[in-house]
Amino acid sequence: MNIFIVNAGSSSLKFQLIKAGNEFETIYEGIVDGIGRASCFFRASAGKKKIEYKKRIPTHERALKEAISILFEFGVINSLNKIDAVGHRVVHGGEKYVKATKLTVPVIRNIEAIAELAPLHNPANLQGIYATMKIITHAPHIAIFDTAFHQTIPQKAYMYALPNSWYKDYHVRKYGFHGTNHKYVAHQTYNLIGKNKGKLITCHLGNGSSLSAIDNNKCIDTSMGFTPLDGIPMGTRSGSIDPAIPLYMMEKLKVDSNKMNGFLNKKSGILAISNFSSDVRDIWAKAQKGHKNALYTLEKLAYEVAMKIGAYATSLNGLDAITFTAGIGENAWYLRRDICSYLSYLGVKLNSKKNRINATQIHSPDSKVKVFVIKANEGKQMAREIVSFLK
Ligand code: ADP
Repeated sequence: MNIFIVNAGSSSLKFQLIKAGNEFETIYEGIVDGIGRASCFFRASAGKKKIEYKKRIPTHERALKEAISILFEFGVINSLNKIDAVGHRVVHGGEKYVKATKLTVPVIRNIEAIAELAPLHNPANLQGIYATMKIITHAPHIAIFDTAFHQTIPQKAYMYALPNSWYKDYHVRKYGFHGTNHKYVAHQTYNLIGKNKGKLITCHLGNGSSLSAIDNNKCIDTSMGFTPLDGIPMGTRSGSIDPAIPLYMMEKLKVDSNKMNGFLNKKSGILAISNFSSDVRDIWAKAQKGHKNALYTLEKLAYEVAMKIGAYATSLNGLDAITFTAGIGENAWYLRRDICSYLSYLGVKLNSKKNRINATQIHSPDSKVKVFVIKANEGKQMAREIVSFLK
């Protein structure tokens, strides 16, 4: 079975063709970045075949046509009829969508309505949906929601200590994000520990970052909240702060909520701490030369992540494994080392050599808690869910 995966952002479109059999194999993948701009970057690959170029691509529909024409040119498949299903990443499913859902007109209307809660993401995801549905007309289109995995979080964790009418009338609660990847790496972690139960903390540390506490396959808490702004500091997002700070600073700077939203989402996090970059690669390059702010940024990040792990070890009342994933989690061995150095009280012991080379299993044999590094792969998890949906 061939499953075409679409992940549309406001000016980008990522695509994958996954062959689902006993295993899930990505046979074609790529990205179009800069849709609507004067020059747009296109990259695609299928095994050893690779292509990269720049040109103007005005719409998501054009981007998709480009992706499909290269798919044919590479000879991966020779007709759209070889695609058996299409999976769409949708960031926000509200409380309504807890699993893979076929995209029908009423479902699309609901996603449009939920867009109020995810104004940056759902409308962009919908662009991808509209475009793909126009082009691939014979196969079912299925939505996979980033929030779905977190819908098992209990009320004591998802409710804020705020007026109840805010929840009832305005849907203010914790939703959590990155759910598809948290679920994927949890599944891989259970495979690695050789049983289908146990207490896990999955640390998705990328441009956006979130941690999840998972007990016997069920998510019981996660660090992003009503929006992806909550939790630990990220590339340019602040993460959790005293909620009085934005109110105070709006007065001081005489700015409105829109401007404040920009400060918290685009000018904070690693960028603000370091005062020069939101990218951990840049921070590490300077830290090695003894740059003070760079060293402090790494110290602060490790501290915040370790604190969250401590909190979730409490939520879970125990801990069997920690899994690191996404750009930072998979590569920044020095951060994993520093994070784990706070966790010796839980019995966490790293094998420093394995950690240094980003091996899959990085704990030492006498560690009470297993520690893994697993490559993020939302597409594979989406394909997995689509296969079980179609069954
Ligand atoms: P996204 O959240 O956009 O999917 P990724 O998971 O790809 O992002 O993470 C991107 C971030 O990961 C980059 O901004 C950078 O900080 C970090 N990163 C990527 N590669 C490395 C690396 N080799 N070493 C350290 N950090 C890295």
